[in-house]
Amino acid sequence: MSLNIDHIRSLFPVLHQEVNGKPLIYFDNAATTQKPLAVIEALSDYYKTDNSNIHRGAHTLADRATRYYENTRVVLQSFINAKEVEEIIFTKGTTEGINLIASTFGRKYIKEGDEIIISTMEHHSNIVPWQMLCEENGATLKIIPVSEEGELDMDAFDKMLSSKTKLVSIVHVSNALGTINPVEQIIEKAHAVGAKVLLDGAQSTSHLEVDVQDLDCDFLVFSAHKLYGPTGLGVMYGKREILDSMPPYQGGGEMIKEVSFAKTTYNELPFKFEAGTPNIGDVIAFGKALEFINEHGKKSIKTHEDELLSYATEELNKIKGFVPVGTAKNKVSVISFNINGMHPFDVGMMLDANGIAVRTGHHCTQPLMQRFGIEGTVRASFSVYNTKSEIDSLVASVTKIAKIKN
Ligand code: PLP
Repeated sequence: MSLNIDHIRSLFPVLHQEVNGKPLIYFDNAATTQKPLAVIEALSDYYKTDNSNIHRGAHTLADRATRYYENTRVVLQSFINAKEVEEIIFTKGTTEGINLIASTFGRKYIKEGDEIIISTMEHHSNIVPWQMLCEENGATLKIIPVSEEGELDMDAFDKMLSSKTKLVSIVHVSNALGTINPVEQIIEKAHAVGAKVLLDGAQSTSHLEVDVQDLDCDFLVFSAHKLYGPTGLGVMYGKREILDSMPPYQGGGEMIKEVSFAKTTYNELPFKFEAGTPNIGDVIAFGKALEFINEHGKKSIKTHEDELLSYATEELNKIKGFVPVGTAKNKVSVISFNINGMHPFDVGMMLDANGIAVRTGHHCTQPLMQRFGIEGTVRASFSVYNTKSEIDSLVASVTKIAKIKN
């Protein structure tokens, strides 16, 4: 199905404004996507008509809020094809999901002498929690190197795997380069040595169809705000038998069955990992974001984004002084680049003067930037509401900017 992009754009109020006297061109989608009106309205409708604390209320509003909140969990179950709805845990985002797993699974199952494998292209949120855990328990962090093209060195990965490997925690799609990693292979090989696999799906869930049963990953974490949903909300998926065996993350209301000074018992999944009053309004609004994706279809969205990617790649590569960073064959609609002789921040500021929003800097992947011997990049990332004519504007602006030094 070919998408009606004009119609899709009409659903996103933020796109219809001028920035610095120019129509806004929003190419910072890998950082966060814009929100359709249905999401914004769902949030305000919740506070206008349904606001209530969930799960224990004996009144109509509490019942309504609970049903809407739990409905999003059901939609998410089918969104990633989880076997059971209880395997969907709401978090604050990808970062909290990884920290939760490090603090619970990590503390219980990873001990001195054990190894955790990550890669050079991880977001800081998939590096630091493991460094903290290793500092605490004496485990070792092993790092899969990245090639000049921005792909994982799979031979090195093969050599790293051993019976000492307890966890492979890997980014499914790189936020800095757009590389799609061969996670099917990684999962199969990790399982063969008895290790569990955590996928950082912060970027993959918005571009690819992610089926956790098909992939057979043990954990998947992602953030609502990169999926047209609200900020400060995310999902941790885990296989039931693993989640059941893990201790709780935070203690408090919701996560208990019975509290006494003699002995406290914990609630069933998913509530065991959802202590305190959750982010009710945002979860309900997230349901509308998922509806938006399902209505248009991940396949059609990807086809459109891939067209933008190949057009932009071809046109930008013609510019003298344009230096792409990360040229993997298998990638999503993210282009990271530098301009010879120019600082990425200056390029970003000049693009902003033309109404074009991009991200500049290390993209929370400093070790990856160190690998390429650079301070940072300019990153343009495309989403479903972007157009070829917006890419023409980007190419025209980058051409002008590059001429200053090239
Ligand atoms: N992992 C990747 C690959 C990301 O792109 C991001 C966000 O940029 C994160 C993790 C962290 O997500 P959040 O800040 O929503 O927790």
